[in-house]
Amino acid sequence: MDRQGDTTRNTTHFGFKDVPLSEKQTLVNDVFHSVASRYDLMNDLMSAGLHRAWKDIMVTTLNPPRNDRPFALLDVAGGTGDVAFRAVQASGAGFHATVCDINPDMLRVGRERAEARRLDDRVSFVEGNAEALAFPDRAFDGYTVAFGIRNVPRIDLALAEAFRVLRPGGRFLCLEFSTVDMPGLDRLYDLFSFNVIPPLGRAVTGDAESYRYLVESIRKFPRPDAFAEMIRAAGFARVSWQSLSGGIVALHSGWRL
Ligand code: SAM
Repeated sequence: MDRQGDTTRNTTHFGFKDVPLSEKQTLVNDVFHSVASRYDLMNDLMSAGLHRAWKDIMVTTLNPPRNDRPFALLDVAGGTGDVAFRAVQASGAGFHATVCDINPDMLRVGRERAEARRLDDRVSFVEGNAEALAFPDRAFDGYTVAFGIRNVPRIDLALAEAFRVLRPGGRFLCLEFSTVDMPGLDRLYDLFSFNVIPPLGRAVTGDAESYRYLVESIRKFPRPDAFAEMIRAAGFARVSWQSLSGGIVALHSGWRL
């Protein structure tokens, strides 16, 4: 199965469909417009709450300072703010998170959640595209992206932008669905993905297609070693990744040195 898209024909994947590169973002935006209000509930139902543990592992790996030392995090494709809230709660008074996402509906839910948690002074929400960030060079100490990069049409541009906005010594962390590597679990996971998730999406959000895109897009995302190579190609050093939950998810890491 081709996992990269055919860049010579200027096409890419939208789930299992080949689409013109220029159309993918609009299709992705429709997905998150459709599911925004029930996005967090669906994450809990689909993963039986496991996404919380995966995000906590990312925040622990980021290791933000617990004291007053300033630390600026950029959480790209940060949607409803889940990673940013976890990072703020794990850090000291000098920490600030900027959630950047292309979808105003996801950001609206995020702002409401921040206000409800009284975290609106510690987390800012900014509309923007991962492929062309409106932030200066070397502005952030950390860059996180959770379950977001798979949706970006030109992943190489997003990685180059991640490198540009990190200060030297800054860390890049990417949590993404990966390739199940545990015999037995792979067949169960496929059965669950294709037969349970879209109907669950229909029941909870009224939209099975968006969740069919989710399970298909996971199969099209590069394998972890190939993705690590892309991170290296963007200029990052000490690139590594760890497989979580039998390969359902991988946490990728790189440093701007
Ligand atoms: N990071 C959040 C989390 O883990 O709960 C949200 C992940 S959600 C699966 C994917 C997010 O990527 C959506 O909010 C979507 O709007 C965002 N997204 C898709 N393409 C993007 C792009 N080019 N730039 C920024 N955000 C994008």
